[in-house]
Amino acid sequence: MRVAPVNRKGAASRPGIVDNVKNSPANIAIIGAGPAGFFAAEALLKRDDPVAIDLINNLPAPYGLVRDGVAPDHQAIKSVTRVYASLLARDEVRYFGNVTLGEDVTLEDLRSRYDQIVYAVGAQSDRRLGIPGEDLAGSHAAMRFVGWYNAHPRFRTEYFDLDCEDVVVIGNGNVAIDVARILVLRPERLATTDIADHALAALRKSRVRRVTVLGRRGPAQASFTNPELREFGRLEGVSAEVDAAELELDAASAAEIEDNAVRKRNMNTLRGYAESKPADGDRVVRFRFLVSPFEVVGKGGKVCGVRVERNRLVAQKGGYQRAEGTGVVETLRCGMLIRSVGYRGAPVPGVPFDERAGIVPNEGGRVLVRAGGKEVVPGEYVVGWAKRGPSGVIGTNKADAAGTVALMSDDRGAGIFVGCGRDRPDDLPRLLDRRGVRWVDKKGWTRMDACETALGEAQGRPRVKFCRVPEMLDAAGTPGSRD
Ligand code: NAP
Repeated sequence: MRVAPVNRKGAASRPGIVDNVKNSPANIAIIGAGPAGFFAAEALLKRDDPVAIDLINNLPAPYGLVRDGVAPDHQAIKSVTRVYASLLARDEVRYFGNVTLGEDVTLEDLRSRYDQIVYAVGAQSDRRLGIPGEDLAGSHAAMRFVGWYNAHPRFRTEYFDLDCEDVVVIGNGNVAIDVARILVLRPERLATTDIADHALAALRKSRVRRVTVLGRRGPAQASFTNPELREFGRLEGVSAEVDAAELELDAASAAEIEDNAVRKRNMNTLRGYAESKPADGDRVVRFRFLVSPFEVVGKGGKVCGVRVERNRLVAQKGGYQRAEGTGVVETLRCGMLIRSVGYRGAPVPGVPFDERAGIVPNEGGRVLVRAGGKEVVPGEYVVGWAKRGPSGVIGTNKADAAGTVALMSDDRGAGIFVGCGRDRPDDLPRLLDRRGVRWVDKKGWTRMDACETALGEAQGRPRVKFCRVPEMLDAAGTPGSRD
């Protein structure tokens, strides 16, 4: 590991290296209070060396994708917030909500105050298909739809025209599953959840009855986890359909599922759907495999279909099966299209970014000056999707964060810190106040949380989420005039 030159006050012989490791707690800023940020805090607090952690989050409310990504009908998954709340309650942890790095605080502000900085910023953008018609009205990124129904303030004003019977969802991951399920669930089922009020109102009026989920590869390569796929078999009034002919596997795919319990279970679930009778209801989720979209078709500037090409699988070195077009094309009619082909990291001002991979370049969690290089940015680390890309379930972030935190501990032991500690983090509240930032502390979040849950209780729901930042700040009792 090479350490880039930095200039830390009090540092002795070498830049970036502090010879006298302090006994006082290491001051650590974690940027992003989602699962990755909280699991990093947990791992830091579990170690013997003392730490003082500031969690800095761009939305007023913490919990990231647990609040804004997990589907509202999957409340059990959200119970992990109890762990996060207990971490937030620790004396060693301060919370700064509604604070955006690059706007309200600069990297320089942080570098001059903290010994170590952890980027837990997730993947704030979406991958594109790169096909004609992708930007027609009625063609949407799944990330925006998910943010909209989950009351994320950034997506509150998105418009999804649900005045159509057919929707196509592109992609075979769990986000595609969530999107398809939300579109076919009966609104009464959603009415008891913390779905955004605006989304519930729109879904109550929805005419959507058929959702077709497209995989560019075969059923054996789908990324769904099995409980999510199986759930369609239990939804009232919803038929899950798949053509048995599309479930026939070539030898390589058959071998592929032999070694993969999840995919084997998925195949069994899909075979069950192929054999089952339609449910008593008018809502259908249909799975299609080995088809790639190559054009979104519009009429009057709005989506009316998608042209797809049938694929075959071609084995690559290492066993990966790639989809290759056969030249056979067809058009699927639909009034809305959702592209669920993966999230993508977005650059944070001043923080190195690997454009190709869409992550912060890193070696095991130590931030690298540039992708493919060896030079490390001393005292700066990355966890979660910003570290490894948008993969895995919430729990995956626990082991991921522990790996980074172990390196942070090693570096502290070796006296490697951010390196330009002119100030201390104690003055962060004053700095934010001076800049007119309406930041939310732990007490503010507790008040906001209590307001949301009280509103929910009155309606028999877990909570009613605020979806505007000013509403959140008012509920938090945060003084100031900045929205
Ligand atoms: P994902 O699991 O990576 O799935 C992305 C899908 O998009 C894959 O099927 C991929 O196919 C397909 N795709 C990519 N480019 C494509 C293209 N150009 N044309 C057609 N298809 C394309 O991503 P995700 O669904 O966004 O989920 C992100 C992560 O969050 C995953 O780890 C997921 O498990 C997790 N998550 C979990 C839950 C849950 O536990 N309930 C819920 C939501 C999300 P290929 O395989 O061919 O590349």
